[in-house]
Amino acid sequence: MRTIGHFIDGTETTGQSGQFQDVFNPATGDVQARVALADAADLEAAVASAAAAQPKWAATNPQRRARVFFNFVALINRDMDELAQLLSAEHGKTVEDSKGDIQRGLEVAEFVAGAPHLLKGEFTDGAGPAIDMYSMRQPVGIGAGITPFNFPAMIPLWMLSPAIAAGNAFILKPSERDPSVPVKLAQLAIEAGLPKGILNVVHGGKSVVDGILDHPAIGGISFVGSTPIARYVYGRAAAEGKRVQAFGGAKNHMIIMPDADMDKAADALMGAGFGSAGERCMAVSVAVPVGAETADRIIAALKPRIEKLKVGPATDASSEMGPVITKASQDRIKHLIGKGVEQGAELVVDGRGFSLQGYENGYFVGPTLFDRVTAEMDIYKEEIFGPVLSVVRSQSYEEALKLTMDNPYGNGTAIFTRDGDAARDFAARVNVGMVGINVPVPVPLAYHSFGGWKASAFGDLNQHGMDAIKFWTRTKTVTARWPSGIKDGAEFQMPTMK
Ligand code: NAD
Repeated sequence: MRTIGHFIDGTETTGQSGQFQDVFNPATGDVQARVALADAADLEAAVASAAAAQPKWAATNPQRRARVFFNFVALINRDMDELAQLLSAEHGKTVEDSKGDIQRGLEVAEFVAGAPHLLKGEFTDGAGPAIDMYSMRQPVGIGAGITPFNFPAMIPLWMLSPAIAAGNAFILKPSERDPSVPVKLAQLAIEAGLPKGILNVVHGGKSVVDGILDHPAIGGISFVGSTPIARYVYGRAAAEGKRVQAFGGAKNHMIIMPDADMDKAADALMGAGFGSAGERCMAVSVAVPVGAETADRIIAALKPRIEKLKVGPATDASSEMGPVITKASQDRIKHLIGKGVEQGAELVVDGRGFSLQGYENGYFVGPTLFDRVTAEMDIYKEEIFGPVLSVVRSQSYEEALKLTMDNPYGNGTAIFTRDGDAARDFAARVNVGMVGINVPVPVPLAYHSFGGWKASAFGDLNQHGMDAIKFWTRTKTVTARWPSGIKDGAEFQMPTMK
């Protein structure tokens, strides 16, 4: 049995706890590896290694730090196929989709190769008589990232790249469900020239997360996962005086206006609803057609597409959608589908009975479509995080907008229309962090920033873009007077530059 260790001080280690957890193959239900679980002593070893390495790394000029990222990007590209296979084997998504997962993380590593420019401070020459004022961005010190199972490459890379490029050491606590790729990324970072101790990986669940949240040497916490845990992480780490960004769950709505191209809208819903088995925080789980005719047309376009969708293991290159992550997740999704039926939604395509010869024990759920879902039903209220698309019919644009805005989550949303006025109004008014106009999964690129509103994010400053540079640095502002100093005598009033 393969054992996946922590990565501490430049070496893979199973640590001291003696505790392990099974890692499953979601396509077969078999145990394929075991992952070491960290205890307090393992976390302490990671923090000690980070603390020893960080001052020298922070003092390394930003151009040299950036060069490590040039190498890192090249190495990830070199190993792309191997990383994607490893990712698919533990997550279950298709290999092409895994490449997308890696690519969208890699792009943030590319972005931070611009660290010398991104980290430049501000300077005011002559802010007062013989006075200059300047601001520096200095690293927080040791940062930590706690990441979800659904993007085991992208989200760790979103966090560790800006944190490390800014001069921090970083401790990653990835999801224990698919931990191999994060460890492999840490090994590649060392190969790229990163000093040992600047990137450590520790595995585990709540107890190691709590250890990170409470650790006095860790100054900044980035979390991505479900809303209840995001809220908890935010509260606990903020109470310790740390800077925290905590991103949570989602229920993303896509509005389809009567003038939209229905074929394009249906194709968009297929990819956004069922890609990665619906296990994306930017998945569209609610389609909101405006008007009865639009609803009938979109259902008619979706049904045959869903029935044709190829579900299978990632090892089959023709699969378009894989299994969900765990047996518990499969059971929960099937249970929620049952609740939808009980509560009166119209089940157009039922994925509960899906079975594949040779993969009977895999965690598959077939793509599922509900019509006539209402805001009171559990399938609307809960984040299903599976291949289940709900159609909520609306009478008007204003009703569709209100539904989206009244939803407690606010991660992503989209509108499909040919009308610039409707699209512009939607983008301006909707209380959601990321908006697509004829784009179903509007994940911003590395040089913009990613983050939701409402119950989808707690704290301040988004992932990647300039926000990440700000999050992983503290501002220090210096006011300097040369050469007269205080030789003219003390001043007792509040200093102004009048
Ligand atoms: P999760 O909340 O179960 O786990 C996330 C991380 O928290 C993992 O590292 C896990 O080990 C840890 N954790 C789990 N329980 C904990 C506890 N009680 N205390 C402390 N830490 C704990 O999420 P998941 O199932 O891995 O991922 C899916 C969720 O993540 C979905 O809700 C999805 O919407 C969300 N997500 C959000 C974004 C975003 O950017 N907003 C992106 C990806 C995923």
